[in-house]
Amino acid sequence: MRIVMIGSGYVGLVSGACFADFGHDVICVDKMPEKIEALKNGQIPIFEPGLDMIVANNAKAGRLSFTTDLKSAVADADAVFIAVGTPSRRGDGHADLAYVYAAAREIAAAVTGFTVIVTKSTVPVGTGDEVERIIREENPSADIAVVSNPEFLREGAAIDDFKRPDRIVVGLSDERARPVMTEVYRPLYLNQSPLLFTTRRTSELIKYAANAFLAMKITFINEMADLCEKVGADVQDVSRGIGLDGRIGAKFLHAGPGYGGSCFPKDTLALAKTAQDFDSPVRLIETTIAVNDTRKRAMGRKVIAAVGGDIRGKKIAVLGLTFKPNTDDMRDSPAIAVVQTLQDAGAKVTGYDPEGMVNARPLMEGIEYATGPYEAAQDADAVVIVTEWNQFRALDLDRLKSIMASPVLVDLRNIYRPDEVTAHGFTYAGIGRSS
Ligand code: NAD
Repeated sequence: MRIVMIGSGYVGLVSGACFADFGHDVICVDKMPEKIEALKNGQIPIFEPGLDMIVANNAKAGRLSFTTDLKSAVADADAVFIAVGTPSRRGDGHADLAYVYAAAREIAAAVTGFTVIVTKSTVPVGTGDEVERIIREENPSADIAVVSNPEFLREGAAIDDFKRPDRIVVGLSDERARPVMTEVYRPLYLNQSPLLFTTRRTSELIKYAANAFLAMKITFINEMADLCEKVGADVQDVSRGIGLDGRIGAKFLHAGPGYGGSCFPKDTLALAKTAQDFDSPVRLIETTIAVNDTRKRAMGRKVIAAVGGDIRGKKIAVLGLTFKPNTDDMRDSPAIAVVQTLQDAGAKVTGYDPEGMVNARPLMEGIEYATGPYEAAQDADAVVIVTEWNQFRALDLDRLKSIMASPVLVDLRNIYRPDEVTAHGFTYAGIGRSS
């Protein structure tokens, strides 16, 4: 199959590289020349474990190439994937579909022969209809089928998620697309990954329903954590106690500073807006959004309380800036609001992240960036773990204590045992632990 991926970001580049690894001929397109230039030179513009090897191997084998020239790439394609960004629209929170529609217009002018156009970006119900309308309007002779194929990969584990998905969802209205999509995913299909065919609108909604449910699950356990702190219970045990129930499941039950990242915040908001537009509001999700929004600054206040209520002039070390480990993605990271709250209260903040500091700099001004966790903690009045990178899981607590101004550890991911930390002379504050 000749596959073209429009948009070579976290999703487009991973999907394109994995499709090439399946044996397809893939061209990844991006409108940012510097991104394409870097990729042509063997540099990966994002941090995603294992991606460099797959890109290098498939580029070397001649199955994966990169270009800014959408027109010639699309001309010979069997399937064209749209994997451009769909951020929140400024002002109202609807998904901004400008990039998707712009890509559709460019594709319309370039297609030749029967081509399946696949929306991989997360898009609201009805977007596939509009993509089809745009293409037909721009090029009435275009022979196309427009398909929805949402992506469920997680940053940080993207390759494995893409190659071993729980399911592949394909929404279509033109039966000619079915054999093409089956061929595109053939290796996974042969491996028995469920390939779920639905209508296009259903497929579009599945993606939002999945993300909203996961965001709700996280928010649920976060509220239980707050209750645990008030009633003298331990959320880690509550989580295990309910997660072992097969109807509930243990995943996404880790209490923390609130969900962030490039998907959950914008997708929950977009779903709520769509539902309002269709006069069928999703109140559970509206509440989830509101609870999560207030949580991030509350985490900042938790740090302030842990150092005694007044942090003016004090130094706080923040470990982990990205929204989760194993990515360099800073979009909507909880660390941004936590740090802002600390700065608003007059603290001096030092930050360290293994991969996220380049992306953090423009988003988090006025903080000092350290080269490692101990440099960050030097003379600090508290260390705050915001993101659970592996290298923060086994800090040398004696060393840490010896270099800090006062030994306070605020563990927003519950990666330490309270008794272990206090045994080293620290004051410890976790999430949902009544200590
Ligand atoms: P991204 O911002 O990393 O990448 C998008 C890329 O598209 C950018 O490099 C941009 O330059 C390029 N682009 C935009 N318009 C273009 C055009 N007309 N032609 C060529 N290139 C163009 O975004 P992402 O994180 O990869 O997300 C893409 C979509 O996938 C979004 O809808 C997102 O919601 C969805 N998604 C993301 C994830 C994730 O974990 N990041 C997971 C599942 C789904």
